[in-house]
Amino acid sequence: MDESPATLIPQARPETRYAPGVVEDPFGGFFDDPGGWTAPAGGLLDVAAARRWFDVVGWGVRTRLYSYQQALRRLDGAHVELQGRTLLMFSSYDYLDLIGHPDINAAAVAAVEQYGTGTGGVRLLTGTNALHRELEADLAAFKQTEAALTLSSGYAANVGGIAALFGPRDLVLADEYIHRSVLEGCHVTRVPVRTFAHNDVGSLRSALEATAQVRRRLIAVEGVYSMDGDVCPLPEIVALKEEHAAFLLVDEAHTLGLLGTTGRGLNEHFGLPGSCAEIWTGSLSKTIPATGGYIAGSRELVIYLQHGVAPFMFSAALSPASTAAARAALAVMAREPQRIARLRRNADQLREGLAAQGWDIGRSSTALVPVIVGHDVEAYRLARRLLDAGVFTTAIVPPAVPPGSARLRLCATAAHTSEDLEEALRAFGAVRA
Ligand code: PMP
Repeated sequence: MDESPATLIPQARPETRYAPGVVEDPFGGFFDDPGGWTAPAGGLLDVAAARRWFDVVGWGVRTRLYSYQQALRRLDGAHVELQGRTLLMFSSYDYLDLIGHPDINAAAVAAVEQYGTGTGGVRLLTGTNALHRELEADLAAFKQTEAALTLSSGYAANVGGIAALFGPRDLVLADEYIHRSVLEGCHVTRVPVRTFAHNDVGSLRSALEATAQVRRRLIAVEGVYSMDGDVCPLPEIVALKEEHAAFLLVDEAHTLGLLGTTGRGLNEHFGLPGSCAEIWTGSLSKTIPATGGYIAGSRELVIYLQHGVAPFMFSAALSPASTAAARAALAVMAREPQRIARLRRNADQLREGLAAQGWDIGRSSTALVPVIVGHDVEAYRLARRLLDAGVFTTAIVPPAVPPGSARLRLCATAAHTSEDLEEALRAFGAVRA
């Protein structure tokens, strides 16, 4: 699909300028003059790429359709404050409503009081403290693996883990919707990537059969897909990986808390042991309300990675506050299972309500629910109309999703009441009418 600004911005239909004051201009007037940016020859930016983005972003800011990067003032369960208005939040990854939980806040404060705010080193050198060890033991127990290591983000976990383990003579067989960080890991280490059709076991089987001569093959999947909310068919994939002597990496960034009776993720959902995949990666910035990432697996894998993952050796250790918060969050999840049950009920209500109104929610079966509208501008418009109606959502456009499948990505959370969900559904109904 042509992605030039001319096709992204519908020339035939001049855009209405939406009312001011609902969203802020995050660029401080940079785009006020439509002809304002002229590409300097020999400048730092790639002119074609900059022109493409600046045209679209500038148009979005001038029409007030650009609702990214909004500085939220308050986050309170299901609500956020933006530009003096209180909005229902429907795109937060805080699935179990753990941001602001008093026990988690208290653990983070206590960690700051004991350790301060930084670590003074990378993990391999002087950045490791007792909290890291405790969190890694807890994560391994949570994922039912022998061991785990933490990194400064889930992104770093995928990039660093793949780059440490695979190289040009290996092959990564990735679901076509795999997260960017997995592909970047492959790129860094120049391991070839072959994609198979999304969640399509037959397509994976063909790819495995066609590549039997490759020395080592890694199948890379997500638990719950981050743009679609559908679930990886783990039992079939594990059977294939065993039949073809391949390895399996499961990225559970959007899976913890969403799947499994105690929120442990994909293997709990299907009743399989943690040993069914060689590599589990995940984020500590979604259901776990901190920042950071982890890799969980066998003891030998983790010791190897401690000396092979570049971000473990050359990038900052998890901060004391994040480490303690992540640990406390795992404890709260175990103590308050009602959050998981509430999330499931809310997710069902959201999906069923949207589907009943005729929205295309793809194959979501979880709390992450796409509303697929097609053209990028339709997604921006829908997000903006919902904002006007008091519901904060985010538009997701290519390259995050395939061209022509722009969408809103909604997240139900345990913080939503049934009334919140009804209010959001009323807003969706009104904009569809
Ligand atoms: N994997 C997936 C599937 C994700 O959705 C994300 C975050 N968007 C990441 C990895 C990266 O996680 P983090 O935000 O902790 O870097």
